[in-house]
Amino acid sequence: MKKIYTIIDLQKTLANERKGEKKLGFVPTMGALHQGHLELVNQSVKENDISVVSIFVNPTQFNDKNDLLKYPRNLDADCKLLEKAGDVIVFAPDVKEIYPEPDMRQFNFGHLAAVMEGQFRPGHFNGVAQVVSKLFDIVKPDKAYFGEKDFQQLVIIRELVKQLSLGIQVVACPIVREKDGLAMSSRNTQLTVEQRKAAVIISQTLFESKNRKNNYPVKSLKSWVVNRINVVPDFKVEYFDIVDGFTLRSIYKWEDTEYPVGCIAAFAGNVRLIDNIFY
Ligand code: AMP
Repeated sequence: MKKIYTIIDLQKTLANERKGEKKLGFVPTMGALHQGHLELVNQSVKENDISVVSIFVNPTQFNDKNDLLKYPRNLDADCKLLEKAGDVIVFAPDVKEIYPEPDMRQFNFGHLAAVMEGQFRPGHFNGVAQVVSKLFDIVKPDKAYFGEKDFQQLVIIRELVKQLSLGIQVVACPIVREKDGLAMSSRNTQLTVEQRKAAVIISQTLFESKNRKNNYPVKSLKSWVVNRINVVPDFKVEYFDIVDGFTLRSIYKWEDTEYPVGCIAAFAGNVRLIDNIFY
């Protein structure tokens, strides 16, 4: 494993290592790595000659300053985990390296960025697009790996690649879950012991909603999910919607789409958790 902090050093290293027909895989992360991230890294290592993992807590995608401040950071622990993952290049720039000047770019993803996360975290996807487009430009990967855990983000990254004609293959990786079903997340460490125990309600409700799909109209299933989580003390659903997985438009009847995805954001105390399920 190689650790690199500046764009110029990264580009020198890649120019050197990339001679010939070498394929480069890229895994952008914000660190505080867990098995969910490592699955993306493993897949990249399997499918490419060189893999770059970026660790950068991107300030422009945080609409809540406090959330940015309390976001977990531990570069040493992350590097230890990545050492075991094989021969990867870790790119861990500081904020000035990525944003020597404020990024004024405004992306337009229309409906895709207006709903769900976009509705409740204004500016979030613009920030994601700013950092990912910069990182793509720096790393110039053949393939980039993103988790289905952030389903809306994945859809928007595909759109970004299309809008900018980047020709990067976006690879989607399934959600990695804890034993009890909770989707792994860097934010899970912020849960109290009680909240962590109770947080299983989110994934459990999504799984059960899938079993109920044939017996419930879409609207009733949506309410069932929200009510079942909201009765748990300290838990509050911010949104739950069942959407078409390509357009992210809400569906009202199961026949509206062949690709229904249920997306949820819920608070456990002050900790905001997201998850989703393919029906
Ligand atoms: P983050 O560090 O949270 O920005 O996540 C970096 C990448 O890891 C994103 O593509 C996420 O979707 C992905 N990721 C995070 N958690 C999981 C998980 N539990 N399963 C699969 N992918 C994940």
